[in-house]
Amino acid sequence: MKLIFLGPPGAGKGTQAQLLMHDLNIPQISTGDILRKAIREMTPTGVIAKGYIDRGELVPDDVVIAIVRDRLQEKDCENGYILDGFPRTVPQAEVLDTIVEIDAVVDFELPNEEIINRLSGRRVCPKCNSTYHISRLNGDTCPGCGEKVIQRKDDMPETVLNRLEVYEKQTAPLIDYYKNKGSLRVVDCTGQQVEGVYAEVRKVLGINA
Ligand code: AMP
Repeated sequence: MKLIFLGPPGAGKGTQAQLLMHDLNIPQISTGDILRKAIREMTPTGVIAKGYIDRGELVPDDVVIAIVRDRLQEKDCENGYILDGFPRTVPQAEVLDTIVEIDAVVDFELPNEEIINRLSGRRVCPKCNSTYHISRLNGDTCPGCGEKVIQRKDDMPETVLNRLEVYEKQTAPLIDYYKNKGSLRVVDCTGQQVEGVYAEVRKVLGINA
């Protein structure tokens, strides 16, 4: 299955992609994770990306497209993948259309106030990449691997509002783009826990329990 997970920051795309990745045995391709790794390793791509990410802006299309193009060539992508956070602009989607045929696009919907609450309370494990809301953490260690969790710089309140604006302007038009293609499946995440959303994801994708 070749899937796209679409939706505002904080809707839980990454968490859902990790669950589905284990169940379907296909990789989760998170352009955000790839870019953050490039920044940590101070690669040329990382140096370009850092300023954009810290400000809550999108990294230029050509940079992200090059990353995805390379990643899709890897062997583990043969049986499918979940694109988590890509495409994020119409030009990115148009290029993707020339590379692959996507089976389905899952659109995770969530009202702005819930997004703000989730993002400002989000903590991430720098070692295993798991994300948690502070309300579900006991202290500041990752329940998965014991590493100290951190707050992403772009989850700080001033940047969160900018990311939401960027989402509305640049990414939300993809909802109509994929609706017109007939590949959009909507999951309403409002007030739902991870497990409830995951049940919905499986349902809209026609994956049996
Ligand atoms: P994420 O972890 O998906 O929220 O991504 C974090 C940040 O990485 C975003 O706010 C963007 O700055 C950048 N980014 C991730 N994916 C893309 C993309 N497809 N296009 C442009 N920028 C991206």
